[in-house]
Amino acid sequence: MANIDVRLEEFDVVIVGAGGAGLAAAVQTGLAKLKTAVISEVFPTRSHTVSAQGGINAALANMDEDYWIWHMYDTVKGSDYIGDQDAIEFFTKNAPKTIIELEHWGMPFSRIENGKIYQRAFGGQTRNFGESIAHRACAVADRSGHAILHTLFERTLRPDISPYVSYYSEYYLLKLIVDPETKKPMAVVAWDMVNGGVHIFFAYAIIFATGGNTRNFRTNTNAHINTGRGWYVCAKAGIPIKDPEFVQFHPTGIYGVGNLITEGVRGEGGYLINANGERFMKKYAPHVLDLASRDVVSRGMAQEIREGRGVGPKKDHILLKLDHLGKDFIMDKLPGIWELAYKFVGVDCTKDPIPVQPTAHYHMGGIPTNIHGQVVTWDGDKEVPIPGLYGAGECACPSLHGANRLGCNSLLDLVITGKEAGRHAAEWIATERPIFPYPAEDYIADKYAKDVMDQLNTLFDGPAGSVKMDEIWEDLRDTMQHNMSVFRIEEGIKKQLELLDQYEEKFKNVGLTDKSKVFNTELIEYFDLESLLLVSKLETVAAYERKESRGAHYRDDYPERDDKNYLSHTAAYLKEDGSVEIQYKPVRMKPLTAPTFQPKKRVY
Ligand SMILES: Cc1cc2nc3c(=O)[nH]c(=O)nc-3n(C[C@H](O)[C@H](O)[C@H](O)COP(=O)(O)OP(=O)(O)OC[C@H]3O[C@@H](n4cnc5c(N)ncnc54)[C@H](O)[C@@H]3O)c2cc1C
Repeated sequence: MANIDVRLEEFDVVIVGAGGAGLAAAVQTGLAKLKTAVISEVFPTRSHTVSAQGGINAALANMDEDYWIWHMYDTVKGSDYIGDQDAIEFFTKNAPKTIIELEHWGMPFSRIENGKIYQRAFGGQTRNFGESIAHRACAVADRSGHAILHTLFERTLRPDISPYVSYYSEYYLLKLIVDPETKKPMAVVAWDMVNGGVHIFFAYAIIFATGGNTRNFRTNTNAHINTGRGWYVCAKAGIPIKDPEFVQFHPTGIYGVGNLITEGVRGEGGYLINANGERFMKKYAPHVLDLASRDVVSRGMAQEIREGRGVGPKKDHILLKLDHLGKDFIMDKLPGIWELAYKFVGVDCTKDPIPVQPTAHYHMGGIPTNIHGQVVTWDGDKEVPIPGLYGAGECACPSLHGANRLGCNSLLDLVITGKEAGRHAAEWIATERPIFPYPAEDYIADKYAKDVMDQLNTLFDGPAGSVKMDEIWEDLRDTMQHNMSVFRIEEGIKKQLELLDQYEEKFKNVGLTDKSKVFNTELIEYFDLESLLLVSKLETVAAYERKESRGAHYRDDYPERDDKNYLSHTAAYLKEDGSVEIQYKPVRMKPLTAPTFQPKKRVY
């Protein structure tokens, strides 16, 4: 036996993830004086939220007339009509006061001359139900996520909050423990990356805020920590994943590396050109051009490349032109972009265009929740909340984004879902007074986390394995990029399903060469790959079953949206035998108070 140290600890609330969503939740549970643990693979301010650039949407109307109902309309339309309309109303209505709260907490927004918060144009954001472009994204130059994350982190350090919030940085989530009899979630198991050993956190309420997971694609914008462990542990605990097929490809990733060039560049007047210097978005979205929603722009770019008008020796990318905005403007409003382009591809964008290509960016689907962040499952078509379990931020899916997220709606999503999950958990604990789930038995890890303990013992005691982990990683990324990208077709999706089965088989023969328990990065990569193999399977099975094109999911073989058969959410269940079962569940078409927006034919 590998002699693995096991520690147990009790909290009122455990939050897994210290990005914008996790920290927004911690502010609430701390304020409610609940003993809170925040577990994170990295120090909080290194979470991926830090790299968000463009901004956060709210109909503040600082630059031009604007109303939350216009924001709601754009979001419903952007979602290709499978966004849940109660959630969309809740978010868009609460957006302005959320921004003002962040402002009062010290977020250093960019300003216009009259001192109000600066707002920029972003894709899919319009005024008066599609009439003209809206300026709705509240920005801190092109470092908005950095500012949000630090503002929220600072908030948790205040004297009325910090005594209740303990950070467990460099702890890696392994498992969610659900009581086998009552089915009540009672603890999470984590690996202490610095010292080695298993740490079990018991709590009344558990909030998942583990962020995105597009590291399974060759070209992606995500941080190395975005590997889908939150989805993995929930799926393993029997919770379905909602809408996993909807992976957003952002149009402007830096060619060859994938790092993001914010849509804010196009919002400020930059535009895309093909090898002939043509502004090709005129063809695909004559009204809103380069500010069409991301799915439309990414497909437009991919189509130009397919038809031989791509740039470079391989004709495999597009150019983003912004030099006409002028050096002073670029350095004032988009300084981070200048730096990224210069550092990664040696382009001075005040003089030359930036080479770009669509890059995997964001997951619209996730752990299913209602508007209060409560994780739900379904009894037939009825949503049933799981008491004490919450999801917030990118890993969760209250379905604000449906089949396609509009730029700058995610930062809004995570600040509101985080806050709501924390607030609801505190209210639930205070009113329901649940019984603490601590089972108080000896050798608890053997009883409730035997699978994880067995796995760790095998990894530390077993052989190095006959398969190199790297081979699977490389193949997974290449083939997902090839078969599950902007355009999908039955043949490719089927092929990917076969490949994923092969990778799963191979993965059984992976072992560790490094047997150290102290900061063992090979061990972490092992769990990352384990998670991403499952994430890829959920995405691919769901993409195979959805025989239509909607939002980010575009099927060459079924190019039309099919509202008759697929105006519904996917619920992907992981079965005991490792297969994935797909069910379809109703979209919440009923807003809280506003009129329902019915599906319309697409016009861009
Ligand atoms: C480059 C880039 C630019 C973006 N720009 C914008 C923008 O301008 N506007 C906008 O609205 N949206 C933008 N987005 C999207 C948005 O930033 C993200 O969706 C959002 O920040 C996710 O926040 P989160 O709190 O859910 O997760 P994250 O900030 O990703 O945090 C996840 C947390 O979970 C922890 N975690 C993950 N796995 C584990 C594990 N196994 N064990 C323990 N802890 C774990 C991490 O340590 C981290 O603390 C951008 C995204 C990217 C990648």
